[in-house]
Amino acid sequence: MSNELKILLASPRGFCAGVVRAIEIVEKSIKKFGAPVYVRHEIVHNKQVVENLKKKGAIFVDELEQIKDYSRPVIFSAHGVPKSVPKEANDKKIFYVDATCPLVTKVHKEAERHYRNNYKIILIGHKNHPEVIGTMGQIPKENIMLIETIEDVKKIKFHEPIAYVTQTTLSVDDTKNIIELLKEKFPNIKGPIKEDICYATTNRQSAVKKIAPLCDMFFVIGSENSSNSKRLVEVAKKVGCKNSRLVSFDSDLPINEIMKCNNIGLTSGASAPEKLVQEFITRIKIHSKVKIEEVEIVKENVTFRLPNSLN
Ligand code: SF4
Repeated sequence: MSNELKILLASPRGFCAGVVRAIEIVEKSIKKFGAPVYVRHEIVHNKQVVENLKKKGAIFVDELEQIKDYSRPVIFSAHGVPKSVPKEANDKKIFYVDATCPLVTKVHKEAERHYRNNYKIILIGHKNHPEVIGTMGQIPKENIMLIETIEDVKKIKFHEPIAYVTQTTLSVDDTKNIIELLKEKFPNIKGPIKEDICYATTNRQSAVKKIAPLCDMFFVIGSENSSNSKRLVEVAKKVGCKNSRLVSFDSDLPINEIMKCNNIGLTSGASAPEKLVQEFITRIKIHSKVKIEEVEIVKENVTFRLPNSLN
């Protein structure tokens, strides 16, 4: 056994209120309507969550046309869907339950409001992410443009009036730089009163900023396709822990490297179950004595109501 290894555990970490609600919607739907229920897209970006729900009776599909039995309900994922999807469900007479996170719905409504007021809309986000596809799909496509980087600001061809909205799971600091540039180019641009990046993304990034500079290595438990988890790795690197990595539930741990460290940092993305964090710690304990120090920057007490159709 090596000397004691200190694990700085970020708090808050893991499940956010939108993820808790989405999982509960699938579980309650199975209870209320019986199995199977269809789920369009991974309900949240975590393989283990998806596998558990499959065992309980959820069938995951990418598109509604893959649904074999239209008499079964379908649930839309926490990331939100373009308007065409509930319309398609209605046309096919499929009953649906919408698990879109209320904080994503808020962005959809902002985009719609700007469109009704004749604004062109800039969406700051990551191409092909389901949340971005959902937000773009709230208004006719010629009225909304996606930008991903500072360089993209130069390519904007829209004329004012212009407004912007953002994906909820972006890097707080990178987005701030893009917004500053947008405001320079379009001094009258309209934005959200309080930013669109959600409380859970902001809090998890702030906790990482606090502890990553103190760590020799930093680990983020989360899936490859989880936007907020990938941002946490980037944040940890930016604040000084160059050796920061994403760990999915079946990843091998770099035990030899970890054993050379004095301090490592640990957090988890908003769609990663706490069980995976505890399993990570258990795997390290096989090789070293461990001292855990939880660093809490803020207490979260956000909860969201379930849709009326499940009450
Ligand atoms: S990360 Fe934020 S926006 Fe996404 S589901 Fe969680 S609370 Fe909602």
